[in-house]
Amino acid sequence: TQQFSQPITQLANLANTIQSTIASAERVFAVLDEDDMSDEPSGIPAVVDDQNQLELEHVEFGYQGKDTLMKDYNLKVKPGEMIAIVGPTGAGKTTIINLLERFYDVSGGSIKLQGVDTRDMTREQLRSHFAMVLQDTWLFTGTIWDNLKYGNEEASDDVILQAAKAAHVDSFVRQLPDGYDTVLNEEASNISQGQRQLLTIARAFVADPDILILDEATSSVDTRTEIHIQHAMERLLQNRTSFVVAHRLSTIRDADNIIVMNHGSIIETGTHDSLMAQNGFYADLYNSQFSGNVEI
Ligand code: ADP
Repeated sequence: TQQFSQPITQLANLANTIQSTIASAERVFAVLDEDDMSDEPSGIPAVVDDQNQLELEHVEFGYQGKDTLMKDYNLKVKPGEMIAIVGPTGAGKTTIINLLERFYDVSGGSIKLQGVDTRDMTREQLRSHFAMVLQDTWLFTGTIWDNLKYGNEEASDDVILQAAKAAHVDSFVRQLPDGYDTVLNEEASNISQGQRQLLTIARAFVADPDILILDEATSSVDTRTEIHIQHAMERLLQNRTSFVVAHRLSTIRDADNIIVMNHGSIIETGTHDSLMAQNGFYADLYNSQFSGNVEI
């Protein structure tokens, strides 16, 4: 089954309109994947190496008619590692995600998933490894239960309930008059924004992906919900490879690797300590933005 993966750039724009204009989630994929299936491989490659969960080798990429975004970029990601992507708006953070899931193809080099070039996999195979938790939470008009099940249509009721509990969803849903049968209205305004985020996290638990793409929320929610979101995120990240578009200092410092972007290019990569020692853009960003502050 298709996971709820999308090019984030498109999704961000669509997020608000999807709920009201597109009734079925499958229709969304039809729209976004329409011109995207031209070079689909037919073979099912064997996993030849699981040393690296992901490997970017000599990657080059630029949007058509725009400057090169990545040039000879190399990155190895081991299973369970957390990669933080930091940089201002428009820096290219979502582009990385788009490349990982092959919403766009690299123009040079390769991206390998467990040793297999992602171009040798079908998109369904590739995307079954990923799930996303986005800042613009993406819920469709339907019951809460259906929205959770969308993470994996084959998930058992028990799996869905466990996911809801792990994401602190179960407690507030049970207080709604219709519980899990509550129909999220067009704007999902019958639940709070924080609760919407928790639902998206629960859906990622249901999907149980190898690789999690997470856009750390910056929108303000009440303290209690904030604690729930943090706690649920931490559990979701445990023992899972992740790419986090990070805004929190704690996330960035905990990352196994940080990809630092500016003006559409990757300018530095390393751990917090190594980047600080380099005394470059990241160190500047850190000193100016993070000192005495927990978010950027
Ligand atoms: P961020 O996620 O850090 O805000 P993006 O990856 O969305 O940044 O954008 C990086 C750069 O690439 C920006 O200059 C943006 O305008 C450009 N860009 C993003 N998506 C596209 C696209 N589909 N076509 C052309 N340019 C794009």
